[in-house]
Amino acid sequence: MKIIKGICISPGVAIGPVYRFEPGKVVIPQTYITDSEVESELEKFRQATDQAATELEQVRDLVLKHLDEEHARLIDAQLIALTDVELTKKVTELIRREHRNVLWAYFTAMEWYETALANSASQFQQERLIDLQDIKKRTLQHLTLHSSINIPQMPAPAICVSERISPSELIQLHNQNALGIITKIGGMDSHVGILARAFAIPYMSNIEEIEKIGQADKIILDAEREVAIIDARPIDLAKYETKAQEFNIHRRQMKKSFPPAISRDGVEAEILLNAGFVSEIKAVNPTLIKGIGLFRTEYLCLERDDVPGEEEQFKAYRQILTAMKGKPTTFRTFDFGREKMVSILDLEMFQHDATFDTWGGIGFCLDNPWILKTQLRALLRASQYGPLKIMFPLVLNKAEIHLALKIYREVQRELKQENQTFDVDIPLGAMIETKSILDELEELTTLLDFFSVGTNDLALFLLGSKRADNVSKNYYQPIIFQAIDRIAKVGQPKAFSITICGEMASDPLAVLGLLALGIRSFSMSASALIAITDLIRRVNIQQIGSLRDDLLSTASVRQTYKLLRDWHRRYTKGKHL
Ligand code: PEP
Ligand code: MG
Repeated sequence: MKIIKGICISPGVAIGPVYRFEPGKVVIPQTYITDSEVESELEKFRQATDQAATELEQVRDLVLKHLDEEHARLIDAQLIALTDVELTKKVTELIRREHRNVLWAYFTAMEWYETALANSASQFQQERLIDLQDIKKRTLQHLTLHSSINIPQMPAPAICVSERISPSELIQLHNQNALGIITKIGGMDSHVGILARAFAIPYMSNIEEIEKIGQADKIILDAEREVAIIDARPIDLAKYETKAQEFNIHRRQMKKSFPPAISRDGVEAEILLNAGFVSEIKAVNPTLIKGIGLFRTEYLCLERDDVPGEEEQFKAYRQILTAMKGKPTTFRTFDFGREKMVSILDLEMFQHDATFDTWGGIGFCLDNPWILKTQLRALLRASQYGPLKIMFPLVLNKAEIHLALKIYREVQRELKQENQTFDVDIPLGAMIETKSILDELEELTTLLDFFSVGTNDLALFLLGSKRADNVSKNYYQPIIFQAIDRIAKVGQPKAFSITICGEMASDPLAVLGLLALGIRSFSMSASALIAITDLIRRVNIQQIGSLRDDLLSTASVRQTYKLLRDWHRRYTKGKHL
């Protein structure tokens, strides 16, 4: 096993064969021109610059689409360099005064420009060199009437290893599904770096001994840990295969825009994201989601031993709403208690107490109303920055909702008196995730605007187990589908909004079952978005309805699973996303 170290330019993990990439060289003819040829040579220069500018603008659009304005400004810098006054003056002089052919004039002027940059003391200027070389290559190609850079085709998706690489080469390698990039030279702010990050291609640079990489059949690139591993041990390979798969899910999301989750018979499902950090929102392809169905606000309290104050919370919520760009976010009020956030609340004493397993969520906040009040104030104040909904977790009974609504109205009154701006019509909901609340759903529909079913806790409450002993996929228990059917039956006649936001909504087979019960809204972790959208696009929802009776009469996890799996095999059709 050999480990090669470098610097991470774009994070991510890739495994694959090495592809040695040798950027081609352009040969520059050196001739003299006559007086009558001067204008046509100058015109060739103008045209080539215009064409290169058009290409760069396309790159800029790509960067804007995948990254942001700040990164796009780096392309602007390249565009400015392309039409630099001094450079243009030098080329014009060489053509007009010295009667040099345009190719040679441009090449010479650029050499002068590059030398000036290379001699600059600033690291920033030196990093711009690669960008400048890219401008040079583009313009020279237009001058030689070659519209695109001819790079050899990769025989199969591979990790490209090269001395250096230009942005346009990177785009072409990306189109050939390059798995990763390793170069000797390359900076964080180079456009190759920006584009690699935009396309989520793992990229590591500053490798002294690039030759040592050789022609390995399989190399591991872990750009985040800044290592490339050659001749990896089977145990490392296995570990990295999983990592690379996870990374690919993330990468697929970045790649394209996704069609809506509309079934073969034209029924649209609502696909929402479960999140707890702004970075998760930024990493998700926005075309995959209609909004956030569950924002776990208690994550704001991770790694600290207090609850953030109103101003800090307000800023956090505003940041989330701004990142959502007009799509709605459902904030769940703090869900402390049980296994969650024990450290901040010093709840260790409850760990061995049976009540600990059912106490938390809205119950905890009602016992500590200042926590709920502060949070609601911050949420309401943030509501002017984007559409939001608020939901209360782990509701045990309707009395808790009455109390929570009382505090909510108090907060509204207070803010009005303070002349604060806020949305007066924020939809309010309850998480349905305890056994006791199932008996009070009817009344809740008259108090609230929506339900969100937390199947993780619901399964534990219904099965009487502790969250810490959670058995994976216990949502296949018949009792869970039966409970959800009960919830659906209360909501559906009134068109009352019901979303499933537990892990069950991330499991394609379980989603089939939920569709059979008439559920149309699913909130899930980012890694499941593509699989669930894909599933919905490949089923006929009317047809799934016929599965309902069988689903509600299964007697075991095994039977439920088999029923759903067989249906999936038989009736799910069409191409994957
Ligand atoms: C749930 O219980 O299903 C849920 C979505 O919430 P959490 O997992 O945060 O308790
Ligand atoms: Mg829960």
